[in-house]
Amino acid sequence: MDRYRVAPGTQVDLSQWSTDDTPEAESKDEGKERFSVMNNRLEALQEVLYAQGKHKILIVLQAMDTGGKDGAIRHVFDGVNPQGVKVASFKVPTPLERAHDYLWRVHARTPAQGEIVIFNRSHYEDVLVVRVHNLVPEDVWSRRYEQINAFEKLLADEGTTILKFYLHISKEEQKERLQARLDDPSKHWKFSPGDLAERKFWPDYMAAYEAVLSRTSTDWAPWYIVPADRKWYRNLVISEVLVQTLAGLDLRFPEATESLDGVVIE
Ligand code: AMP
Ligand code: MG
Repeated sequence: MDRYRVAPGTQVDLSQWSTDDTPEAESKDEGKERFSVMNNRLEALQEVLYAQGKHKILIVLQAMDTGGKDGAIRHVFDGVNPQGVKVASFKVPTPLERAHDYLWRVHARTPAQGEIVIFNRSHYEDVLVVRVHNLVPEDVWSRRYEQINAFEKLLADEGTTILKFYLHISKEEQKERLQARLDDPSKHWKFSPGDLAERKFWPDYMAAYEAVLSRTSTDWAPWYIVPADRKWYRNLVISEVLVQTLAGLDLRFPEATESLDGVVIE
């Protein structure tokens, strides 16, 4: 899965990154089978992570509208213990949030020991939608890449493992998914006319994502560019990277606080 990791310093040209490759699986059936194995392993690893109460895991999900952030959360994390996993969704900042620096609301929701926190959107919106629509002047947003790298370094130095996924879909695939939302009344709640307005800015968003991926993939907080036109493959890639990363931590169930030898329960 290292093929999807953006090496620090890479100049990312998203047109060169596939949205629909599936090289890690022969077929959808094989992919789903492997996903199910990963799903079970994630469940087991997360149980130890929670019990041990030592490591903090931060997962950042970013994508264009309909890119599959919600679907990835639903599928990749089904089966984990909800006590140890939280989702933090970042929307248009409230007046209180806007009255602070842009990392204030983000830092408040980073994982504690033993937790996995999934960011559904994140501080990267502050160099994506904010950049595309000039919500702050360029001299303000252009400083944020360095600030974000420093912020993530702080989290990493203090013991947080950070994984960032950009779910890469094609503009054509977005069209189909928006149409599906229009056609299916059970998906109307997800359809926002604003998404059509944002779609017109596709090239600007791609440029903003390229800047993010080129400038903020670091050794301590790498980006993965996930081919996301096929939902099953997207889920497989995310869960494999996650399992591989968690398996590399020193996860152990904690020892009993005192010897349990000879304990008798009457
Ligand atoms: P959704 O994730 O579909 O519920 O939409 C959330 C909306 O909030 C998206 O349109 C984001 O671009 C927007 N949003 C999130 N963070 C920010 C931010 N820092 N500044 C402006 N808009 C934001
Ligand atoms: Mg939306």
